Amino acid sequence: MDSCIFCSIIKKEIYAEILFEDDEIISILDINPMNYGHALIIPKEHSDDFLSTSSHLIPNLFLSAQKVAKALKSSLNPDGINLVANNGVYAGQSVFHTHIHVIPRYRDDGFQFKLDLKTYNDSDFLHFADKIRKQLS
Ligand code: AMP
Ligand code: ZN
Repeated sequence: MDSCIFCSIIKKEIYAEILFEDDEIISILDINPMNYGHALIIPKEHSDDFLSTSSHLIPNLFLSAQKVAKALKSSLNPDGINLVANNGVYAGQSVFHTHIHVIPRYRDDGFQFKLDLKTYNDSDFLHFADKIRKQLS
């Protein structure tokens, strides 16, 4: 894919701090971290987002995320770790090449998900579950 920043990193055309790579996956430090050590797990084969990623890459994508999360834990000793995948502009995606964020978190780091949580009424609970289940069967 032309003009994809992560494809350019994968091809070593532009600089990145590579944490590890294998035939399918590269992991780099995010250039604008939420906390230092914030890493990205990126399949080398271009896909725009998680939904369009080849299913054969998914096991290694998540194994790599776990590998990096364990390395963050043992190297930086964060209090917690977030795994995040933004899919689509309205979900906050800015680079349209699949990636998972692995973010070290600290007790007092000040980041908060400001959530306005909804509740289901009884019929909606069933309705939404049914709607989704139909697409899974
Ligand atoms: P998202 O907003 O979920 O698409 O995340 C894209 C991430 O890529 C952001 O956190 C950026 O800081 C990061 N990013 C963009 N360009 C680079 C780059 N050249 N090297 C490392 N990380 C980058
Ligand atoms: Zn790409």
